Amino acid sequence: MTAVGDATDAAPAGYRRASFWLDDLAARGLDDLRPRAALTRDARFDVCLIGGGLTALWTAYALNAADPDLRIAVLEREIAGFGASGRNGGWCSALFPRSASSLERSHGRDAAVAMRRAMVDTVAEVGRVVDVEGIDCDFAQGGTVLFARDEVQRGAARAEVLEADRFGVDALEYWDADAVADRFGAVGLDGRVPAAVIDPATARVHPAKLVRGLARVLEARGVAIFERTEVVDFAAGRVRFRALDGSDAEGTLAARHVIVATEGYGPGLPRVRRRILPIYSLMIATEPLPDAVWDEIGIEHGQTFSDFRHLLVYGQRTADNRVAFGGRGAHYHFGSAVDPRFERSDAVFTHLRRALRDLFPAVGDAAITHRWGGPLGISRDWHATASYNPRTGVGFAGGYVGDGLSTTNLAGRTLADLVLGRRSDLTELPWANHRSPLWEPEPIRWVLANLGITGMAIADAEERATRRPSLLARMIGPFTGH
Ligand SMILES: Cc1cc2nc3c(=O)[nH]c(=O)nc-3n(C[C@H](O)[C@H](O)[C@H](O)COP(=O)(O)OP(=O)(O)OC[C@H]3O[C@@H](n4cnc5c(N)ncnc54)[C@H](O)[C@@H]3O)c2cc1C
Repeated sequence: MTAVGDATDAAPAGYRRASFWLDDLAARGLDDLRPRAALTRDARFDVCLIGGGLTALWTAYALNAADPDLRIAVLEREIAGFGASGRNGGWCSALFPRSASSLERSHGRDAAVAMRRAMVDTVAEVGRVVDVEGIDCDFAQGGTVLFARDEVQRGAARAEVLEADRFGVDALEYWDADAVADRFGAVGLDGRVPAAVIDPATARVHPAKLVRGLARVLEARGVAIFERTEVVDFAAGRVRFRALDGSDAEGTLAARHVIVATEGYGPGLPRVRRRILPIYSLMIATEPLPDAVWDEIGIEHGQTFSDFRHLLVYGQRTADNRVAFGGRGAHYHFGSAVDPRFERSDAVFTHLRRALRDLFPAVGDAAITHRWGGPLGISRDWHATASYNPRTGVGFAGGYVGDGLSTTNLAGRTLADLVLGRRSDLTELPWANHRSPLWEPEPIRWVLANLGITGMAIADAEERATRRPSLLARMIGPFTGH
């Protein structure tokens, strides 16, 4: 893994390049992205969080709220929000990697309903916290519009609404083409006006404002955030680290509770290597679009959007009227490698640009001002978890696939209960202490992961050609949380 800057070059320009969102903070003078001090000597804390993304910060937030006397340290290799938390699509949604039906099959109906309810409530909880803590992150809950762009996608859309009705938690609405035509300038794959599913349980956020704002709130409460501090290994009660601030310092942090919160970057740690598979998701942002164009597109502030293709795309209207639009499709790299070079792929950026214009022709030739990407984390059974072993004091949360923005908040609250030994509704949720199987050794892992990604792209092409639900997608479905 190559760091953004070497020991003598912790260049904020490198952090600005990591995403539109981080660049935007710096460009507006809201945050200079300069690293906080590194940890340079042995230390003792009650809790050590490895990684400085939303998992670590929400966990610190919940622990600090439960017991302000706890001494909490966050060790982050770059800066807080450098990872997926500062790069994502800004969907604060109730999505969970495993569908309700899939959860029902493995954990029973009550557990599936409880998980759905917890996810919907979590969106509101994030909104509540950013409000009370004064974190201005453009949070606006306008829901998601999922366009169903041909007959096959309309079938998938109707099935999704029926599934939601069966569990009775998610309040999805099906809009036919007439209703969509009144509001949106979206075009179907068949050239007609699409139908849509509206999911009210999503808020649009500016992810970097959220994660960087949360870090500041925690620091003001006495949580110690050490940046440019790389964890090289950990075990029960201790974490080995080295400072990347040029001091060459190394040391051990002793802590009763050690929580691993490194998500897609986790395979860099020997003890996490086969637990999480890093997959890159890439994004583009347009220049700000004029009001007339937005009137034609129809997406309002607070709304996010997608469609029912298999190889996911996702978009939002930013507070400054850009489209931030992303998608999967980048290949998995042998050995679970994570490297800044993988954050850019001309082929994927071109595909995203085309996909955006196909969906909303009104975007036209708007300039693409930013291109970036980042790794998200996938567990072998597509099942996120928040888990903690009271015997060793070691905990882990992750495997959110692309649904971590809100789920990290639920993870933080759940981990806090587990660490403090409190039994609660959260610790009874089916993902608490869930243990996923490990990923296969290489080269099988490489073959499986890339087959899955290519298979999704082929399934989309198959559906467009045959106008029937893809058999391939049905075969891959059970392995991808459906
Ligand atoms: C492009 C993209 C778009 C996405 N869009 C969405 C979306 O719209 N909605 C949604 O819900 N989810 C989305 N996701 C997923 C979501 O961003 C993540 O699930 C979530 O941010 C994970 O947070 P985290 O704190 O677990 O991990 P991260 O934010 O990745 O943080 C992990 C941190 O650990 C640090 N680290 C790693 N190794 C070490 C080490 N050895 N020592 C010290 N520090 C270390 C890294 O530098 C990093 O800062 C997206 C992800 C990507 C990449």
